[in-house]
Amino acid sequence: MQSVQPILLARCNVCGDLLARAEAVFGDACCAECSTQGPSFARAVNFGAYTGVLRQLIHLLKYERVRAAANPLGRFTAQACLQLEGDIDVAELLMIPVPVHKLRMRSRGFNQAELIARAAQRGIEESIGRRVTLEVTALLRVRFAESQVAMDKETRRQQIRGAFKVTSRERVKGREILLVDDVLTTGATASECARELRHAGALRVWVVTPARALGHAALERVEERDTSAFNVAAPSSPESSVSLFDSKSPGTALGSLLQRRGIPLKHGAQRVGGGALRTCPL
Ligand SMILES: [Zn+2]
Repeated sequence: MQSVQPILLARCNVCGDLLARAEAVFGDACCAECSTQGPSFARAVNFGAYTGVLRQLIHLLKYERVRAAANPLGRFTAQACLQLEGDIDVAELLMIPVPVHKLRMRSRGFNQAELIARAAQRGIEESIGRRVTLEVTALLRVRFAESQVAMDKETRRQQIRGAFKVTSRERVKGREILLVDDVLTTGATASECARELRHAGALRVWVVTPARALGHAALERVEERDTSAFNVAAPSSPESSVSLFDSKSPGTALGSLLQRRGIPLKHGAQRVGGGALRTCPL
């Protein structure tokens, strides 16, 4: 559990993805995407990278149905939530877990985001010494979607459009919402929930997850700009060798891209088998 550490790399203030080096130095701490067409939520915070023990915990909960895994995930989520203290009075937030479709509920038996939110609620209340409200029926998932793991951002955005419905406008109207999920990847799901909540009158929507998948935006930047942008994916301190890409994520594409451009993998990435890439200190 001690191996789960906060992400110390320069990240976007809105979506939490890694910043390109130039953006971190000269920009307004906002990634290229968020500064042009930002998500519907105000800010997404998270505890650590979606890798290692943190990812194992999420898999235990989601796929092995080990409900107890929600407790440490909730503690990480509560800690991540405190990052919002400069933006908003945390006690005012109305917590809403990202809902799952009833078919998914039937097959899995629970909503993992709700279990994490319940555990996080206890952690947040303990640390701020005040009550926070959790609302689990105001937002509903009305459309079932297949796994989004292999989709790119634009496909995800289109797939998820209209998938959520607010069941009670009174409960969200004028409120500051804290949306809770297990992992933020492209942010398309959270952004669509936020869009629907704001459409129903919510003031602002904040997002908290224990884990953040990193590197998707970095990869897109590599595609559209020059290869030096890949440096964004390399951890800055020698001891923090972070795995940012795995065989299911665009790691393979990045590896072949680097090779196509004649960049030796030792320049910030090394192969770890199965098409996986692991970043290493430059
Ligand atoms: Zn961003």
